Amino acid sequence: MEGLRIGIVGIGFMGGSLLLALKREGVSFDAFAIDIKERALKVAKERGIISGGDTRLEALKEFEPELVILATPVRTFRGIASVLRDLLDKRCIITDLGSVKGEIVYDMENILGGRFVGGHPIAGTEKSGVEHSVSDLFKGKKVILTPTERTDKGALSYVENLWKTVGAKVEYMEPGLHDYVFGAVSHLPHAVAFALIDTLMDMSKEGGVNLFLYPGGGFRDFTRIAASDPVMWRDIFLENRDNVLLALEHYINSLSKLKDMIEREDGEAILEFLREAKDKRLKLEEF
Ligand code: NAD
Repeated sequence: MEGLRIGIVGIGFMGGSLLLALKREGVSFDAFAIDIKERALKVAKERGIISGGDTRLEALKEFEPELVILATPVRTFRGIASVLRDLLDKRCIITDLGSVKGEIVYDMENILGGRFVGGHPIAGTEKSGVEHSVSDLFKGKKVILTPTERTDKGALSYVENLWKTVGAKVEYMEPGLHDYVFGAVSHLPHAVAFALIDTLMDMSKEGGVNLFLYPGGGFRDFTRIAASDPVMWRDIFLENRDNVLLALEHYINSLSKLKDMIEREDGEAILEFLREAKDKRLKLEEF
């Protein structure tokens, strides 16, 4: 993978981190970014992550990339793909870092064909913006690729190789299953964290006391991810709507069970519920 020409659409936290990781591994490449924010392009250039950039997608044509990485919020993908289709060389491979796969993958294939390879790195933080990008984000982390029967084998092994180069562990998953899994283990916790802050805002108003003046360690740990980017999360919730609604349904059910036990003052049942949860949490495997 030497002398690569990489086009990146959306040079934010994730896109910047992937390019920094490739650099750290000594991969020689030239990267050109498209971003709607001039500031992102400026910061990425200052950090030596890209050699050039533009706010217009059309500028990618002249750069003639052999690989294009989409690293914008997921609901922008279809529109961007429709423009890229007529812009890029037919051999250019296109992949993404988006948190939702499912229907998007099939839509992207309809637009771009088998050279599109869906990908989702299971790494990240609540930080956004290329100023926060780091080079070691993907080391030892999982990356889910979602090939289908249409996926070009050469494009798939190219993208897989890219991730392995930066130390990631690649797994394949069917796009629909991906969205069920991450609707539960990632999208639900984010929804809960955002909602918990909302609850405390409500209760501050109702009780006439600013509850945010008294955050304990638990509250801080639990709500860290509520500082994540709102646009990115709006897109994820809407794009994975059915699975997020299903996960919320289950969560509300679990909360109701606990509420009911507390109402009934059923100490035994509460202990059982908490013990089971604690055991499960202690056995959690590292991602
Ligand atoms: P970010 O906000 O740091 O970066 C996104 C960049 O895309 C920004 O610079 C923004 O200006 C740009 N952008 C937005 N719309 C655009 C458009 N239409 N055209 C061109 N540029 C546009 O976000 P991020 O954390 O880097 O997330 C990027 C992608 O990675 C998302 O699809 C997200 O679902 C996925 N992802 C994020 C994480 C995480 O923890 N942050 C983890 C896994 C996957």
